[in-house]
Amino acid sequence: MAAAHKHEDYLVDVLTKTGNKTGVSKPRRDVLRDGDYHRAVHVWIFAESTQELLLQLRGDCNQSWPGLWNISNAGHISAGDSSLVTARRKLQKELGVILPKDAFEMIFVSLREAICIKNGEKFIINEFEDVYLVTTLDPIPLEAFTLQESEVSAVKYIHYLEYKRLLANEDSEYAPYDVNGQYGQLFDIITQRYKVDNVARSLTLQKQLQRYASVSLNVELAGLTDADKEALALVIKAAAIIDEIFYLQVWYSNPYLRDWLEQSAAASELDKLKWAYYRINKTPWSSLDENEAYLTTADSMIILVPEATRKARGWKGLEYKAAFPWQKPPGANFYPPDMDKMEFKLWKDSLTKDQQNFATGFFSVIKRRSEYNLDLSICNSGLDSTNHMEGSTYDLYSVPFSQEYSSFLSKAAELLHKAGDITCSPSLKRLLHSKANAFLSNDYYESDIAWMELDSKVDVTIGPYETYEDALFGYKATFEAFIAIRDEKGTAQVKLFGDNLQLLEQNLPMDDAYKSKDVSAAPIRVVQLVYNAGDVKGPQTVAFNLPNDERIVQDRGTSMVMLKNLSEAKFKHILQPIADACITNELRGFVDFDSYFTHTVCHECCHGIGPHTITRPDGRQSTVRLELQELHSALEEAKADTVGLWALKFLFLQGLLPEISLKSVYATILAGCFRSIRFGLTEAHGKGQALLFNWLYEKEAFIFNPDETFSVDFDKVGDAVESLSREILTIQARGDKASAKLLFQKYCVISEPLKVASRNLERIQVPVDIAPEFPIAKEILGKKNWPLC
Ligand SMILES: [Zn+2]
Repeated sequence: MAAAHKHEDYLVDVLTKTGNKTGVSKPRRDVLRDGDYHRAVHVWIFAESTQELLLQLRGDCNQSWPGLWNISNAGHISAGDSSLVTARRKLQKELGVILPKDAFEMIFVSLREAICIKNGEKFIINEFEDVYLVTTLDPIPLEAFTLQESEVSAVKYIHYLEYKRLLANEDSEYAPYDVNGQYGQLFDIITQRYKVDNVARSLTLQKQLQRYASVSLNVELAGLTDADKEALALVIKAAAIIDEIFYLQVWYSNPYLRDWLEQSAAASELDKLKWAYYRINKTPWSSLDENEAYLTTADSMIILVPEATRKARGWKGLEYKAAFPWQKPPGANFYPPDMDKMEFKLWKDSLTKDQQNFATGFFSVIKRRSEYNLDLSICNSGLDSTNHMEGSTYDLYSVPFSQEYSSFLSKAAELLHKAGDITCSPSLKRLLHSKANAFLSNDYYESDIAWMELDSKVDVTIGPYETYEDALFGYKATFEAFIAIRDEKGTAQVKLFGDNLQLLEQNLPMDDAYKSKDVSAAPIRVVQLVYNAGDVKGPQTVAFNLPNDERIVQDRGTSMVMLKNLSEAKFKHILQPIADACITNELRGFVDFDSYFTHTVCHECCHGIGPHTITRPDGRQSTVRLELQELHSALEEAKADTVGLWALKFLFLQGLLPEISLKSVYATILAGCFRSIRFGLTEAHGKGQALLFNWLYEKEAFIFNPDETFSVDFDKVGDAVESLSREILTIQARGDKASAKLLFQKYCVISEPLKVASRNLERIQVPVDIAPEFPIAKEILGKKNWPLC
């Protein structure tokens, strides 16, 4: 492939108008003749200390811009080659600069559409230009470059603003760029990045941090045997290793960034804030701000590579900043950053069925042969000896997690095996050993079954699970860990609801004809979280349903784990202040966590009762989900909330839940409505809560007072809850989409009282989420104590 560059008419990939591969490639000359869309790379080398850009003087025999000063490095991408590998190769070939991929920051893609006539020949240029920035600390001494004579006659550094001025004036010694057009971004990005206003930056970070309440989560371990305490410590150590994998899964330079920010945290107030906010987000992108970057490559680690260029007298060698893109890459570090969906599809279609399943499976990453070989040619260490070049005409290949993260996983497996040997709980023993085996074999089936059957005081969830980070395809799982202790009270409540599920079904407020003789709820484990790690950035998960592996879901269903102490911390820092602001003085005292959590558990159990499989009026068998389609999930959440409330009253009246106070339950639910609706009505839970609130308000069970506070009419609320339960259950039983639509149109709205409540809540500073600290884990891991704010 590399040889093709020497020929005038090497092949290039033809792209669609939106820049995707078509699968067709043509000689470069024909592409320019026919005006086909194609791709090129531009690399700018920028020296931070002098704010200079490197330019090269194009050789006189060059096709493009002979005799003019131009970009540090540029060129077309040959057919089948990728953007980043091309950028790295060209830099090496033309300037003698050899850099790893994390030195390259893709800053934007510019589309050049132009027609030019040269020597009587017409060229139609429709070129996507992948623009990369390489940030070095100091200018590279000119004698350190090795210039490719045929292409480059000289190089020089120039201040980026001086260069911008020359371009704006269309100076004839410089290849032209429209600095007022797309290419102006290069100069804007640099200006923005090095604008020295630490005070403003600190203020912004402080505001971002203040949305999280810092919480220390302590858990009582007194009930554990010594063996389980020892096992717990080992599992926490394994979880800390799992954490490392997650940083790497997000982006390849992310572990460098983390270490750098931690090392520099004590240097200044701003550095402290950067580290504090990074610890919450675990990436340079802010979770609560649609992943907008709050750091730039300028904030990242300095890496010295003495062998990057020829030696120069008195110079220790090239130092660059480990780069990351300011836009969160959709494929995270699961795919090559410059791979598009079409390239993946063409490769996938060439594979056998098994290979396809592996490529699109949870537990593999996709890499490039060309990159592997380029890295191999640069350094011979640290790479496995498998030959990835042979046997395929495609550049992509899959690597199992067990191989990609083997150094981490073998350590974690060792710790889990040790913990498994120590614990006396048979189900925990089985889970820990099978999970350790899965880390090494890449087959998680057995360990997921063992997780479903876990019945132990120490509760462990560890491994690759959620696929949210893979925004490109949603195939790849990130590593996470939730290490916890079983909560006995919560577990007893789950059992109580489970034991009475049939009784509840029989008494549901709906026509007896719709009732089922055979109900079951997904198993729930209520736990106290001791430590979480891996993919737990930004807003904290209070409950999760696993596994996601379809094979197990089909055979065995799923299990839910609810994190009670995390829930309690959110309640205290978020719901309580909301209640204080929105609810009358008399009622405030009734709002409490026990009611909140009991209702949450009941909500989950109530997903198991009511109509699921239904018979349509015409006798056809169907399901509620199929009939209600896009309205189903919101109505199902509303059902679980409403029927959950109904069930609590029913069980209380039966004498089965003597410890709860119904007044507390209703007051707490009222406050809960304002919390959910704060984030709008786009999500199923928010919609469900709006329906509940507006129905109860219409029935005068929730009262809006002249002083803009809210209260509950305890005489009316029970009936109002029952009438809404009947409405929802009947719509579900009939699969009546038209009625569901009407119900949402009328009640799923930000009504006047909700508007007032939202406005009042904006005035007080209620945190959006919490940032937990884990003192037990910190002691075991010997971590430094970093205050969050
Ligand atoms: Zn639910």
